[in-house]
Amino acid sequence: MDTASTASCPEPLTQAVRLRGHHLLCLLGYRGMGYSEEYVRNMTDIYETLRQGPQTIVEIVAGPDALCQAFPCSLPNHCEDANVCERDQTVLTALALAPGDTVAWATILDRVAAAIRGSDIERFCSTCSWRAYGVCEDGVNRVGQHLELPAVGDPSRRDSA
Ligand code: SF4
Repeated sequence: MDTASTASCPEPLTQAVRLRGHHLLCLLGYRGMGYSEEYVRNMTDIYETLRQGPQTIVEIVAGPDALCQAFPCSLPNHCEDANVCERDQTVLTALALAPGDTVAWATILDRVAAAIRGSDIERFCSTCSWRAYGVCEDGVNRVGQHLELPAVGDPSRRDSA
């Protein structure tokens, strides 16, 4: 597992960030962990772009997205597994979103706050190996309490809600 040690300052995006359903929740729990150095670099860029620019437009997609594109070729790929696609649909249904929608990240946060609780992660993500870290539940709860998500690489804020 790789860990990002410093926060980055991403350039403003001119295009929508393409994200699949379950990654909307993965991003809330992102604290700098990932599948490889390149995966972490890419996810940190996207996380900080959204965190620092809540009006950034997200395009909802079906299947592999802007996070999947950095998944390492050396690991077994799960990006198109049926259970992963079912998880996308579960999250999108909860948020009243569908592939093809374009929506500001701030609106997604509002919908998460209204419709999802941290305790839902156990049900939504029963087969995910990252769930045990508790960071996704923490992230959803933060959003529900209208708290800021922590900057990646800010350990003083990593586990406090
Ligand atoms: S438990 Fe896994 S799939 Fe669910 S939000 Fe966290 S990282 Fe994503």
